[in-house]
Amino acid sequence: MVVALRKEASRDRDYWAPGLETQSRAEWQRQTLELLKAHLRHAYQGSPYYRASFDAAGVRVDQVKSLDDLRRFPLIDKAVLRDRQLAVPPFGDVVAVPEDDIVYISASSGSTGVPTASPFTARDFDDWIDYEARQFWSSGLRPRDRYAHSLNLSLFIGGPCVLGAQKLGALSIHAGTLPSERLLAILRQFQATAIWTTPSYAWYLGETAVKEGLDPRRDLAVRRIFVAGEPGGSIPETRSRIEALWNAKVYDYYGLSDIFGSCAGMCEERDGLHWAEDHIHVEVLDPKTGEPVPEGERGELVLTTLKKAARPMIRFRTNDIVSITTEPCRCGRTSLRLKGIHGRLDDMLIIKGVNLFPSDIEAVARQETALTGEYKLVVERLHHLDQLTIEVEHIHGFNGSIDELAHRFSKHVKAITGVHAEIRVLPPDTLPRATHKAKRVEDRRQGVWE
Ligand SMILES: [Zn+2]
Repeated sequence: MVVALRKEASRDRDYWAPGLETQSRAEWQRQTLELLKAHLRHAYQGSPYYRASFDAAGVRVDQVKSLDDLRRFPLIDKAVLRDRQLAVPPFGDVVAVPEDDIVYISASSGSTGVPTASPFTARDFDDWIDYEARQFWSSGLRPRDRYAHSLNLSLFIGGPCVLGAQKLGALSIHAGTLPSERLLAILRQFQATAIWTTPSYAWYLGETAVKEGLDPRRDLAVRRIFVAGEPGGSIPETRSRIEALWNAKVYDYYGLSDIFGSCAGMCEERDGLHWAEDHIHVEVLDPKTGEPVPEGERGELVLTTLKKAARPMIRFRTNDIVSITTEPCRCGRTSLRLKGIHGRLDDMLIIKGVNLFPSDIEAVARQETALTGEYKLVVERLHHLDQLTIEVEHIHGFNGSIDELAHRFSKHVKAITGVHAEIRVLPPDTLPRATHKAKRVEDRRQGVWE
């Protein structure tokens, strides 16, 4: 395998940073350990929070001899970031540099109400944009492309990612969140070849184009769609439906406001998302025990930054359930890959003791050609038993039996997830269309977690 990777590595122009992207796993690990030791030292020396937290846990940076030693360090989560920000305004004492060194912040509103700021030094920001360029390059974006950035540009960490496309030399259209009709007009006027949005919005935008009498496959030039923010981009059935609508390839990206706009993205092989392993160390843990799960199994993604000076993240619980692989990719890159982003821990439903993510249902709904692919899950507790109802829509012009369609879909859901569900087949255009992040679950149960 080493020989094959060396051969791939000679195709230098395929890579943004050839030596780095194709180095051996042993080299990745050695590099990570060196970066980690320096970064832990920086966190301890610069951040009052980490100094207190490491001391309270009885861990010392000079005792770190292997990557496994990181597991003795305490975890941190969003609630801590919010609390420390309130305690020491405006940025909190997790920050490890003087305020004068901070040149950029994003702010995430979050469902909890208090926006948390994600600060960057000038070096952190440059590192991010260079990584962004590397990731776009791996997805096939080139200087000849015209790239329309259709993520929110206001205080949102996804906004500056557009500079990654600009850095690699593509024409970069800072579109932001325009009304769909206006965005379609811009895509058409400039014949944009690539766009970034959420998967549900990519679907909605394509449908809107069709309603306006446009054929996205013929009237628009978009051939690459980058998506993030929802599990859909890693669900093959969702990807292939969006691809058919646009005649474009869909590339899933993963980002996190507390770290980088994107931390991983699909290469042209689109077999998992390559990770920014020189910037962020990955652990996948059992959310209940905190122990690592075997490679390939689902667990919570826990991240440690390796260079980000402004606010180091040491063992940050993302709340995202993922699975990873370190198998070599056909593209020749050797960084570890997210094989699946299965959903948020918050979104996980437990139906009669079975763990279920909306993304599991999405995969089934998008496979059934008689359905539009839109869906909603309603969970109730009837006579002390959990009852899952899945609302779906049949396509326009469907003239088969609704009962048969519901029965077939129910059997398929049961086979894939192990959960029995009532199916309600609705007429097309009944379920609300998402223009940003889709709300797919309505949980009407009381006291489920007690
Ligand atoms: Zn690859």
